[in-house]
Amino acid sequence: MSESVITPPLTPRTEATELNVPAPPVTRTKQNYVEHVLESTPALPPITWANWYREINWLSLSILTIAPAIAVYGCLTTSLRLKTAFWSFVYYYVTGFGITAGYHRLWAHRSYSASKALEWFLAFAGAGAVEGSIRWWARGHRAHHRYTDTDLDPYSAHKGLLWSHIGWMVVLPRRKPGAADVSDLAANPIVAWQHRNYLWLLLLMGFVVPTAVAGFGWGDWRGGFFYAAATRLVFLQHSTFCVNSLAHYLGSAPFDDKHTPRDHVVTALLTFGEGYHNFHHQFPSDYRNAIRWFQYDPTKWFIRTCQAVGLASHLKTFPDNEIQKGELTMELKKLKAIQDAVTWPKDASHLPVVTWEHFQEQARHRPLILVTGFIHDVAAFLDHHPGGRHILASYIGKDATTAFFGGVKEHSNAAHNLLAMMRVGVLRGGLEVETDKVAAIPPSQRLKIVEHASSQ
Ligand SMILES: [Zn+2]
Ligand SMILES: [Zn+2]
Repeated sequence: MSESVITPPLTPRTEATELNVPAPPVTRTKQNYVEHVLESTPALPPITWANWYREINWLSLSILTIAPAIAVYGCLTTSLRLKTAFWSFVYYYVTGFGITAGYHRLWAHRSYSASKALEWFLAFAGAGAVEGSIRWWARGHRAHHRYTDTDLDPYSAHKGLLWSHIGWMVVLPRRKPGAADVSDLAANPIVAWQHRNYLWLLLLMGFVVPTAVAGFGWGDWRGGFFYAAATRLVFLQHSTFCVNSLAHYLGSAPFDDKHTPRDHVVTALLTFGEGYHNFHHQFPSDYRNAIRWFQYDPTKWFIRTCQAVGLASHLKTFPDNEIQKGELTMELKKLKAIQDAVTWPKDASHLPVVTWEHFQEQARHRPLILVTGFIHDVAAFLDHHPGGRHILASYIGKDATTAFFGGVKEHSNAAHNLLAMMRVGVLRGGLEVETDKVAAIPPSQRLKIVEHASSQ
């Protein structure tokens, strides 16, 4: 409707006198840890054509290129036997769980307690993924959680998909990852032993065991090496790398959207259930990544099975109440966007305050009606009033509050919402009564989402 205002403009609202008190001087908040470290410690120089060969991690690059080359050669020259295919698939899961249930959920996040037997199993299985020792891996991962998306995050998603997938391993780290406490891992004898013996463990579990099982088992040494060792390794590495790359890129943010982690079933299928990464970054010490029964999280099922047979205990979960708060916040955020796109009626602070006498005088020239302390100009609506023009016109210059709310007709919520759009003024003293103040709020605004100002 048109922007009609009552003329002459009446008593303008004055700011409360308290607001005229000068604001205290703004004090800068203390610099945060990330800013402090970034400013005080220099990064390695940028990679250029002149220095790139000095900035490459040649060992990582070799593993990440030679293994796929061997796998491709092997697949092209070796027939795949059914038993070997089955074994490769099983060993893919065994070594995958070594990373997801072991490196990640047990050691990096301490989301459950494992018996010694399970710890040894996971320490060996994880070595077969050829992704570094538990201590090195968990240290980087704790920094990733603590400094997500910053330059102190070793695989910050803000540096692109390729960087977070493999770039951070191929190139020498531009900075040391941010500080993270790993004293518990240093004190764990199995973790310490695996770190000391990592090189031969890598060869044993990455190549010797998968080859030997197929070789001794059914005489397929060649298939064991090319499929269960090399090809399995390439698939496994890129699957688990997806937790750092794809899980920060693809999908939705049902729990929080402050940072890049996302939930997606495709990532979950590729990563043994680590694809519910938005949940995981919010609730990192929860042993689950997927909280719904139908979501694919075989790592969770593996840990639960271990618990059932007495190998795992103290499975940690975040309280449902807190999880629901995250989900509700994100739902409200979506609703707030819809709310912000809607045109709302003016509130009392944006309307002139009118005395009863002025209202009476103005109503002689314009069809003004008072309802719940607000003055409405119904000119454009007179001929569209479902109850007819006559009854509406009979309230011009009058207080129609009682009539509107049941005295004549109990109007619908939609009618009240529409009426509020016709506001042109506030009657002086008209909004003083507490019950009237509530009645004056149109139904569409009673559940209005209010956003508090944030410094972030
Ligand atoms: Zn992450
Ligand atoms: Zn994690």
